[in-house]
Amino acid sequence: MWRLTTPDFENPRANLLAALTFIDGTVLHPLSESEHSDILKLYADYDNNCGQPAAHLKGEHLSEALRLALYNAYKQVQVGGRLADYRSGLKLLAELCPYCGYGAVTDLDHHLPRSKYMAHALYAKNLIPSCHPCNNIKRATAGEVPSAQFSHVFLGVHPVEQFLFASITILQKGVRVVYSVEHVASLDVDEYERLKFQFETLQLNDRYGPQINIFLGGLRTSVEECGAYGASVLKAYLARAHASHCKNFGRNHWQSVLLMALSISDEFCSGGYKTCFGQHRVVI
Ligand SMILES: [Zn+2]
Repeated sequence: MWRLTTPDFENPRANLLAALTFIDGTVLHPLSESEHSDILKLYADYDNNCGQPAAHLKGEHLSEALRLALYNAYKQVQVGGRLADYRSGLKLLAELCPYCGYGAVTDLDHHLPRSKYMAHALYAKNLIPSCHPCNNIKRATAGEVPSAQFSHVFLGVHPVEQFLFASITILQKGVRVVYSVEHVASLDVDEYERLKFQFETLQLNDRYGPQINIFLGGLRTSVEECGAYGASVLKAYLARAHASHCKNFGRNHWQSVLLMALSISDEFCSGGYKTCFGQHRVVI
């Protein structure tokens, strides 16, 4: 769960004109000066509302023809469209999907759904680089209350402190990890509701299972080597790995959160780690 740097490279007017004109120069919708300023005003309202759903952002004062033209013009931002560079630039804002923190960025998700907020179909801050599974699960989610909304990847206000936690249970064979979003002191109550709803909607506890296996498998050699020297050595290694992940991905990335939980687990560090790895035999 990440916040991304707000896109600042956009040229709304150029993008609007390109999207509203066919390649042979035929104008799909002639954009008047007043329509252009109405759209920019709507974009400013979007920013002021931190991108969260609101009736006034639907742009119902714009003509239906203009709203429909903007809705249809999104085709030019899709693969093979005339705004392919715009699409690529937006996708490059994220190294990995900011919703799950592991998926490859293949899609642009409309934070406010295109079907209901047609006037924002092309707005850069409404286009969230994401993986296909997250985009597909989220679909047109945009409830009226924070407990039915997603946190805004560009405009959401996240605290600097950790709000995602993992609880670890060592089993006879394997380790169970359960993540939860907690209402820490510096997390705004509405934002807490959004993050909690988002985490549950995206089914991240289920989806992280295979990713955790892969991630822990990558740490296997270091964990086993440090663990052989005792729990304190393994704890120190995991604490260093946690600090390094925080620097790269932030303290609320699922890997950072997992490393933190493992580094303070007496059970894991005193030998419980041995149950976490699948059996393997070297055959060559
Ligand atoms: Zn994702």
